[in-house]
Amino acid sequence: MSDALSSPPWPRRALHELVAEQADRTPDRVAVRCGDRSLTYRDLAAAGRRAAARLAARGVGPGHTVAVMVDRSVELPVALLAVLASGAAFVPVDPGYPRERQAHMLADSGATTTLTVGRLAGRAGTADVVVLDAPDEDEATAAAADALPAVASGDLAYIMYTSGSTGRPKGVAVDHGCLVKGVLTMGAAVRLEPGDVWLSVTSASFDPVLIELFLPLVHGSTIVIASEQQVLDGEALHEVLAASGASVLQATPLTWRMLLDAGWAGGLRVGLCGGETLAPSLAAQLAARCGQVWNIYGPTETTVWSTAHLVTGDERDTVPVGRPLPDTTVRVLDAERRAVAAGESGEVWIGGGGVTRGYHGRPELTDECFVADPFGPPGARLYRTGDLGRLREDGALELLGRADHQVKIRGHRVELGEIENWLQEHPSVAGAAVVPQPDGEEQRLVAYVRPGREHLFDEAGLRAHAALRLPRHMVPGTFVRVDVWPRTPSGKIDRRALPVPAAPSAEAAAPAATAWDDELTAALAGIWQDVLGAAPDGVEANFFGLGGHSLQVMQMVKRIKAAFGVRMNAARLMQAPTLGEQAALLRAAVMTTGTPDPVPAAER
Ligand code: AMP
Repeated sequence: MSDALSSPPWPRRALHELVAEQADRTPDRVAVRCGDRSLTYRDLAAAGRRAAARLAARGVGPGHTVAVMVDRSVELPVALLAVLASGAAFVPVDPGYPRERQAHMLADSGATTTLTVGRLAGRAGTADVVVLDAPDEDEATAAAADALPAVASGDLAYIMYTSGSTGRPKGVAVDHGCLVKGVLTMGAAVRLEPGDVWLSVTSASFDPVLIELFLPLVHGSTIVIASEQQVLDGEALHEVLAASGASVLQATPLTWRMLLDAGWAGGLRVGLCGGETLAPSLAAQLAARCGQVWNIYGPTETTVWSTAHLVTGDERDTVPVGRPLPDTTVRVLDAERRAVAAGESGEVWIGGGGVTRGYHGRPELTDECFVADPFGPPGARLYRTGDLGRLREDGALELLGRADHQVKIRGHRVELGEIENWLQEHPSVAGAAVVPQPDGEEQRLVAYVRPGREHLFDEAGLRAHAALRLPRHMVPGTFVRVDVWPRTPSGKIDRRALPVPAAPSAEAAAPAATAWDDELTAALAGIWQDVLGAAPDGVEANFFGLGGHSLQVMQMVKRIKAAFGVRMNAARLMQAPTLGEQAALLRAAVMTTGTPDPVPAAER
């Protein structure tokens, strides 16, 4: 067992009140910037209060949930603070998720109001929509502004959805007490200074974003929010990192690698790497480029991060995830829930002030995963992470893989069971197993499908079915037909005996037989073949339909630059997924040489 480094008394307050107090202390300081827009602490506090009053005036308050559908912009912290100040809890809903997934999240969380911005309002899935940048203040709003409810530490702050093994995403319900603990304990590690500038790159649907937005705001530092385009494109990210004067960045290993590939030479005061395994080679590169680098670890269920390791750069086989943050307990237990000795492996259980309420509306699942801490004081609870690990003699935790079928795909948490269950709902499917296979430094998902009797194996149909409910990162890149499952001695599908589909080969990359109308399209088709290992059969061919994913879009950017000398914007390519659309973008870029991709400077 390993106990907290220390347990300072965290204020038993609501998170937005801590931000409001900071705004009173430093009203004229810049709180948040995105592109050419910025808000001072005074502006942020006023905008948050106004939006909270608009919510309150339509009856939203304590006990309610509000869907927040806001892209990467200065409105994002405004929206989150507004919902908290109204007394309700926010539910981040990614506008890019399939409608069915969004609908499930709304119904499951009980959100009947969406807080959004004008450019996304059409995608809101609730009847009641509040558009932040289209104010509709009236007398009722003015009255509500003076009567915002008191919010207690035990009140619900947010519900964050994550992949669920039984086929539906599950919502982790987190109260203000956990959120304040999560934010302030990271502050104890990072020791933010007022002059710090934190570049925010995390999507609003992942809880690390809450550290990026709230930790600077309770310390009077400045947040710079990178645009959607910038977070997908290493070179653009590199540019904004330099231009913003950022001193702190929190990112996944994938994003750090993107930055290094783009030639980033360093200069941050603090680098935080979390969400996935940090390889020793990457750790060494980051340690050489930042004043401090932390490998941070934690599941959504215990509020963002639970442990942290200060990277030396000399780690050899593994980089530990470190010691528990303040007010956090880490226990490594065996199958009978007995503590194992230091150095022995077991399952990782996490306790302390970050342990959340559990899964919204799922008491049985909550009881399965959240239990009374047999070693702790009365009332203490532990969350079973599913991670395997061991505690070193010095109390630092090392992770050793998973005890279940949860994986990370390009930074996203994915339950393979969710994909399998949904594939099995397709009428042609008698059985499905989804297995991650190595793909360079990342993993790709391969779906093995056994068609039912008298059914054909229809790859395109299965892919379309998957995309109906699953976000892009969960749609398998490759589908393989299986007629007989290999079995383990106990009769389960032997996942390790499933055939590994061939990686894209030089043969697959041979020129397509399709006759293209023009040279540019033909050359672009050749690049698709190289990157995807599959030949587009016409201008309607869809990059994602052929199994492409966001990392491969980055490879496309590089290949196009090498072939045509122009740098396309990765996000623009993703928004134009057919060969014909991409050829049109490329043609426009080539014709305006010098400014390769016609993206406004503010978005870069
Ligand atoms: P999420 O709830 O999306 O934050 O995912 C939590 C899971 O991500 C953990 O249970 C781990 O399996 C994995 N994870 C998070 N941080 C790290 C890290 N620094 N190293 C290895 N795995 C990590």
